[in-house]
Amino acid sequence: MGKILVVGNWKMHLNASQASLLLHRLQERIPIYKDVEVVLSPSMLTLQPLSVQLDRRKFRLAAQNAYFVDEGPFTGGVSFAMLRELVHYVIIGHSERRRVFGEDLEMIKQKIGACVRNDITPILCVGETKHEREQGETKQVLHDQLLSGLANLTPSEVADMVIAYEPVWAISDGTNFTDHFIAKPQQVAEAVDYIRRYVRDVFNDKASREVRILYGGSVVPEIVQGFLDVPGVDGFLVGGASLNYHTFSAIVQASHSWQRGSEEEHA
Ligand code: PEP
Repeated sequence: MGKILVVGNWKMHLNASQASLLLHRLQERIPIYKDVEVVLSPSMLTLQPLSVQLDRRKFRLAAQNAYFVDEGPFTGGVSFAMLRELVHYVIIGHSERRRVFGEDLEMIKQKIGACVRNDITPILCVGETKHEREQGETKQVLHDQLLSGLANLTPSEVADMVIAYEPVWAISDGTNFTDHFIAKPQQVAEAVDYIRRYVRDVFNDKASREVRILYGGSVVPEIVQGFLDVPGVDGFLVGGASLNYHTFSAIVQASHSWQRGSEEEHA
């Protein structure tokens, strides 16, 4: 049984000392787990200092973004090539990057290519807006995002990557989780099944089995076990709740307990 993957996306929060304090608290609370891989994705500014402080037995780092050209006259950019020694993962195509920063399918495809070329594992975010779901376009949207995002990859590159299903309507504003439209496990099951079938049809069975698929959208400790029961879900991309060390460590702990329970069941 593979490890559960839990990624904390700190978004554009925390200056260097706040980020360092949060990491310190997480390192105090989260033990070394063999069955849960915990990844932290702080702002670009704090990746370097946190990499020095990081207990690598417990955590890996992800960047929240990068530019697809390795080097050149791109003011304000940071390339995948610059990040390759620092991070294991880069989050690509987050809905906030698509919506706020205008990243289109073509740019996301280029970023996935640059990420893989630089030996970094992409976490490709896909998911429909509320309007698209209401119009019955969820599968079409997933299809288009997968078609372009995975276009230049080999089956083994797809097998090694991570896809995060994040319905845009379920992503929190960072403060209010309970009133939010958390996706239903059945909706997540349908989307994850669609993604795995797409990968199987376009690539192969092995890639479809091995690609890790996360759910993201208002994840809190209380929903962890129910969502891990959804077939094909390998973990979570956590936004707002990853900024609080109580809730984030509870999400990791609940993932570990679920994994232990399911190992006992299969023993
Ligand atoms: C995210 O940042 O990808 C996310 C899902 O945020 P939240 O958990 O706050 O909904």
